[in-house]
Amino acid sequence: MNVLIVYAHPEPRSLNGSLKDFSVKRLEDAGHIVQVSDLYAMNWKASLDANDSLDRQPGARFDPSLDSKRAFKDGRQSQDIALEQEKLRWADAVILQFPLWWFSMPAILKGWVERVYAYGFAYGVGEHSDARWGDRYGEGSMAGKRAMLVVTTGGWESHYSPRGINGPIDDVLFPIQHGILYYPGFDVLPPFVIHRTSRIDEARFAGVQDALGKRLDDLWKTAPIPFRPQNAGAYDIPALTLRSDVAADQIGFSAHIE
Ligand SMILES: Cc1cc2nc3c(=O)[nH]c(=O)nc-3n(C[C@H](O)[C@H](O)[C@H](O)COP(=O)(O)OP(=O)(O)OC[C@H]3O[C@@H](n4cnc5c(N)ncnc54)[C@H](O)[C@@H]3O)c2cc1C
Repeated sequence: MNVLIVYAHPEPRSLNGSLKDFSVKRLEDAGHIVQVSDLYAMNWKASLDANDSLDRQPGARFDPSLDSKRAFKDGRQSQDIALEQEKLRWADAVILQFPLWWFSMPAILKGWVERVYAYGFAYGVGEHSDARWGDRYGEGSMAGKRAMLVVTTGGWESHYSPRGINGPIDDVLFPIQHGILYYPGFDVLPPFVIHRTSRIDEARFAGVQDALGKRLDDLWKTAPIPFRPQNAGAYDIPALTLRSDVAADQIGFSAHIE
């Protein structure tokens, strides 16, 4: 299988760097082909702007969505964007690996998403009507592929527990797992999260490697998070709210999980 690791940490000798190297080796030893987009090493341009289209007209008003749509359709995207899209098409599984920075992904990775997820590639795909609201949330260009987050946090596991002050980790990661991965169609596996990173010695590091190794071995058999597909009847269209008889007593993120 083909695995793409999109990796965002500025220091190769970091915990994240060590775990990324470990993952590459574990996957390759199992016979998979691995590509790594090491965003800092690539000097990835994080900001979406008018230079992302090769057909940029000086002085023309820049429209982030429509310029993206046109450049994608005409094959006139900046080369770095097109190359990352090609890697996504190639991949059977995608791993996003990053330290949690301010409750989200580092800006360089967010910028990868913003630029690589072009209009017509990751969004604005499929029929929009009163019966369907595009190919998204369970359908889309990434359908049939798997995705998983590998995330490190300074905070303790209890800080991210159901009543922890940081909010439950599943809620913190919901915008990434549901909004960025499930939206274009990935099957999203439960995340691999390493908490309390300031307390990692050799013994704990070995345990973390073991646990991560098992998750990588099981990449093709782990059950995805059962997010509710948008166009399969659970949602009223075009309001896109859950039908009143679906999870009637639930609100918030968890209501979107079967
Ligand atoms: C801007 C910013 C925002 C942040 N926001 C948040 C937030 O919102 N929530 C939150 O919880 N945390 C937050 N943090 C903390 C952050 O998530 C952690 O610092 C990060 O996850 C640690 O990952 P690292 O790869 O940088 O670890 P490192 O600092 O590189 O390593 C952590 C520990 O692992 C050990 N280690 C590393 N490699 C090895 C190895 N090969 N073998 C054995 N031990 C090893 C190191 O000795 C060290 O003790 C933030 C940090 C920053 C800088």
